[in-house]
Amino acid sequence: MTLLSSILAFNKKFVEDKAYEAYATSKNPEMKAVILTCMDTRLQELSHKALGLKNGDVKVVKNAGATITHPYGATMKSLLVGIYALGAEEIIIMGHKDCGMCQIDADKVINTMTQRGIKQETMDTLDHAGYNVKQFISGFNDVNENVYHNVDMVYNHPLFDKSVPVHGLVIEPHTGELELLVDGYDKVIKK
Ligand SMILES: [Zn+2]
Repeated sequence: MTLLSSILAFNKKFVEDKAYEAYATSKNPEMKAVILTCMDTRLQELSHKALGLKNGDVKVVKNAGATITHPYGATMKSLLVGIYALGAEEIIIMGHKDCGMCQIDADKVINTMTQRGIKQETMDTLDHAGYNVKQFISGFNDVNENVYHNVDMVYNHPLFDKSVPVHGLVIEPHTGELELLVDGYDKVIKK
C-alpha cells in the first residue's frame, strides 16, 4: 500500500464514521490570532497542546524555519490576509530550538540537488536571473535572532496595521516550553 492509498483509505472511514464532528469550527480563528511557525514534525501536535489551542482557535502559517523570506511572498500575504480578511487581531511568530533551518548546509543541499539531476547550468541560469540558489536555500544562524528579525519585518511592513501586536516566541520541541522574546503589546501604536 502506498502512502497515498493508505491516506485515502483512512479518509474514507474517517468521513463515514463522522469523526470530523469532533473538529467542527468556523473558518475565522476563535482566539483571533495568526501563528507563523516551523514545519518541524515535532511541533505538529505538540505546539497546539503546549499553547492550549484546539481546532479552530488560530490561523497557522507554516514553512521551513518560520521565516519570512520575501516581504511580498506567500507567508507575508498569509499574515496580512489573516489580519485584514479573516478576523485575526494578533500575530505570533514562533520559532523553535534545534530548528533544521538553523545553520543548514546550503552547499550540501545543492550537492544533493546535483546528484538528483539538477544541472549546474540551471543553477547558473537562475543566478544570472537574480535567484542565487545558495541564498535561496540558506537558513539562519540563530533562532532568536530570526524571530526578532521576522517580528520587525512584519511590524515594519508598509501594509501592516501598527495597532496589531506581533509577539515573538521560541518553543522547545521536546517539552513544549515557551520562551518569550517579544511581547507585542509593548510596541503597538494605539489608535
Ligand atoms: Zn524548524
